[in-house]
Amino acid sequence: MEKLKRTVEQARAAFNTGKTRPLAFRIQQLKALKKMMQEKEKEFSAALKADLNKSEFNSFSYEFMIVLGEIDLMLEKLPDWASPQAVEKTVLTLSDKTYIHREPLGVVLVIGAWNYPFVLVMQPLIAAIAAGNAVVVKPSEVSENTAKMFEKLLPQYLDKDLYPVVNGGVPETTELLKQRFDHIFYTGNSAIGKIVMEAASKHLTPVTLELGGKSPCYIDEDCNLEVACRRIAWGKYMNCGQTCIAPDYILCNPSIQKTVVEIIKKTVKEFYGENVKDSPDYERIVNKRHFKRLMGLLEGQKVAYGGETDESACFIAPTILTDVNPEAQIMQEEIFGPILPIVTVKGVEEAIQFINQREKPLALYVFSDSNKVINKMIAETSSGGVTANDVIMHFSIPGLPFGGVGNSGMGAYHGHFGFDIFSHKRGCLIRTFKMEAVNGIRYPPNSQKKVDWAKFFVLKRFSMWKLGLVALAVLGIVAAIVIKKVAKGDSGTVINTSQFPSA
Ligand code: NAD
Repeated sequence: MEKLKRTVEQARAAFNTGKTRPLAFRIQQLKALKKMMQEKEKEFSAALKADLNKSEFNSFSYEFMIVLGEIDLMLEKLPDWASPQAVEKTVLTLSDKTYIHREPLGVVLVIGAWNYPFVLVMQPLIAAIAAGNAVVVKPSEVSENTAKMFEKLLPQYLDKDLYPVVNGGVPETTELLKQRFDHIFYTGNSAIGKIVMEAASKHLTPVTLELGGKSPCYIDEDCNLEVACRRIAWGKYMNCGQTCIAPDYILCNPSIQKTVVEIIKKTVKEFYGENVKDSPDYERIVNKRHFKRLMGLLEGQKVAYGGETDESACFIAPTILTDVNPEAQIMQEEIFGPILPIVTVKGVEEAIQFINQREKPLALYVFSDSNKVINKMIAETSSGGVTANDVIMHFSIPGLPFGGVGNSGMGAYHGHFGFDIFSHKRGCLIRTFKMEAVNGIRYPPNSQKKVDWAKFFVLKRFSMWKLGLVALAVLGIVAAIVIKKVAKGDSGTVINTSQFPSA
């Protein structure tokens, strides 16, 4: 445990040298990460196969490709995102510089989860490096092969002091959380999220919590059911249902329930063949504990399709449950497995009511041909993100913030949002020594006239061209005063506010 303390201290000492400040250094580290991926893809792929039975194709499509895209985006945009961002001036600061300067936070802790063990460590790591931080990386011990790979390979490519990897379980993470960080980025379940937030509060450390929850999927009668069900089957059964934004359950009218089941059945055969267990594209439940948890959720349920299991291989076939009682245990917790319950509702109104009676989900899906239905669903519910007429895909848009709300998390990342999470946005005002005459209205002694002028300058909203006109007027008046004073031979600096136009 003493070693953990030293690791964090070492990262802080490395950060304090200032070497992460120059953009060139950050860019070089990001390029090194990319090089690691190019040179060690096979090793990471083998680790993902061992952890979750991910095929090489699936590892590339759902882990590496996302990360490569994120690195390339950072490399392209970093110089722009890191440069000072000018903000609108006020009348009183017309001749000054006003801008936002983004600076690194310091030493940040990234705690990853096991279901996409590569992406969930790498994406926040990339954003934190780009923003100039030192990063202590804590991969999930549940996906132990990928965790070991990080411990072995990251120090071969990145600065060893700035970006240490800490592996271990609950005792190590607990000890790590006692240390002082400048930000903690945690991905995992909501119960541990609370532990992380409590530990962070001891040092007033800000947190980003990427949590989970039950993401609902409403299917309107009025939509292309063939396409809807194929997309839902893809998102539900990828990674064996262990995806934070997988559609957790379906809400639909009883009249289409049977058709939905039939189409998903047909689609599963198209995707994985007659024997799903033999498909290279179908993953496994991560461990026996989660397998048993899922078995418990199946108890007493009406299995309309699937239900085959093999504990020794942690295999659960794609499964559909119909007419599920909203009070059943499977509707109380995030499923995180390949079991898809269908709860019937009369229509969109009842679906909205159902969703709003529960915790705010990480994702929400609505399938409908009607924009009215889609807009109503978005306007009258809340969730971390939404995709209409598809599932998962909002995750893939770097311009969209990715994160939860309420019980599904706080803070959002990806692309610019990730860079922002790990940057302190410092408001900067660089004044000149000019326009001192105008400052007369804020220096004592105060008076009603000065307050009236302050109101005019501070409270009035101006468009840029109006601001220009006001600036010209102010300059003209100041020039007139100066000329008058020079003509009189007066060297005083107090301005006569009665000469300004009335506010
Ligand atoms: P997990 O078991 O890997 O735990 C996540 C991390 O928490 C691990 O690094 C682990 O070491 C640490 N941890 C575990 N117990 C701890 C404790 N007592 N104190 C401190 N740290 C502890 O992952 P999980 O929680 O099973 O992950 C699944 C959950 O994560 C699901 O709810 C899923 O929806 C959510 N998730 C969310 C996202 C997202 O981006 N929002 C992504 C993936 C997973």
